[in-house]
Amino acid sequence: MTHPLIVGNWKMHGDGAWLDRVAAIAGAVAVPQIDVALCVPATLIHRAATIAPGLTIGAQDCHWAATGAHTGAISAMMLREAGAQVMILGHSERRAAGDDDAHVAAKVAAAQNAGLRVILCVGESAAERDDGAATARVRAQLIASLPERLTAGLTIAYEPIWAIGRGVIPSPVEITSVVDGIRSVLTARNVANARVLYGGSVTAAATRDLLARTDIDGLLVGAASLKPATFSEIIGAAI
Ligand code: PEP
Repeated sequence: MTHPLIVGNWKMHGDGAWLDRVAAIAGAVAVPQIDVALCVPATLIHRAATIAPGLTIGAQDCHWAATGAHTGAISAMMLREAGAQVMILGHSERRAAGDDDAHVAAKVAAAQNAGLRVILCVGESAAERDDGAATARVRAQLIASLPERLTAGLTIAYEPIWAIGRGVIPSPVEITSVVDGIRSVLTARNVANARVLYGGSVTAAATRDLLARTDIDGLLVGAASLKPATFSEIIGAAI
């Protein structure tokens, strides 16, 4: 059995002063039964990876091209060179900012080509959920967000948009339906061993129940990863 994977997503939070938090989280996660990654802003990757070599540091986005005239963009290889080992892609906040499924698929390919482990986010909107279309929507989004060629090290994060930052978590039945749908896509793409995470308003209180499920391999944590004490509580509950 693989260890649960807990991923923190700091989004656009954190400057140099937050390296103290990276160090505190690195101290709290030095346990062998669990895999932890912290996806920090690009500006912190190099320093975070330097001060916390035992902690897996990740990025939150990349450009799909390996190099070129793309002012302001950062390639997957540049992020890897800075110290990133994993990369969140297709987060709903990036999709809302303009990434469509084809962009996401191209970014997944770029990140995998650069040797990064990808955490690919998928999730339905509140309206899609209300229409009873959550599973169909997530399956379609996942199919369209996967590049033609896939390498090992793929993780899918099921993140219902309506649950992110809202203090609500889908019912167990809803999670089962969508995660089954995700796994059927992974099986069809011959990557049945990919991990599937849940993300959206995860707290320490919810962690044990979520990880007691046999269909969820870990958690993607936003707001609750910003403070070492709360993130450590989640990690503690995951052990
Ligand atoms: C996220 O946006 O990836 C996320 C999981 O956020 P939160 O935990 O704050 O809902």
